Amino acid sequence: MNARKVLILNQTFEPLQVCTARRAVLLLFNGKAERIEDSGQIIRSPSTIFALPSVIRLHHYVRIPVTPTISFNKKNILKRDSYTCQYCGRNGGERMTIDHIIPKSLGGRTIWENVVSACRPCNLKKGNKSLRETGMRLLHKPFRPRSASVLGILAHASLQHERWRKYLPPDGEDRALLGP
Ligand SMILES: [Zn+2]
Repeated sequence: MNARKVLILNQTFEPLQVCTARRAVLLLFNGKAERIEDSGQIIRSPSTIFALPSVIRLHHYVRIPVTPTISFNKKNILKRDSYTCQYCGRNGGERMTIDHIIPKSLGGRTIWENVVSACRPCNLKKGNKSLRETGMRLLHKPFRPRSASVLGILAHASLQHERWRKYLPPDGEDRALLGP
């Protein structure tokens, strides 16, 4: 049950952190949190049947510390994209490559909004071409992550992506903060 990850939301519905299913079940049993989304998985014991949550929300408010700017590097880009190829949706773990959406040869910059995780076949297919030339589409618009807690959640999000996505920052958030 510990392999399963559960997203914890703050009282305000802000994403807070990822925990093990065991901890989430304890929080529910102890009345510290409420169930927001189910995982579709069920635990059976001789006496009970329990639906495992995918998202829970705390009844009390936890203050989120202000984090310094997130380092812009390959590791964090992969975390932001949940180690998932942003063209085909394949999950490739640490073996994923980084692709420039607008290639450097066409003036594309190396910034959060212009780089995405891509599997090798997609990266090769795209090469030094623009999206329009290849006809490829992005699954999500890349954005600059605001906080370490959100980045940590996104890193675990690949398996639960669709259930968690609506509680995570919208695509393109913080674009305005980046400037020209
Ligand atoms: Zn791919």
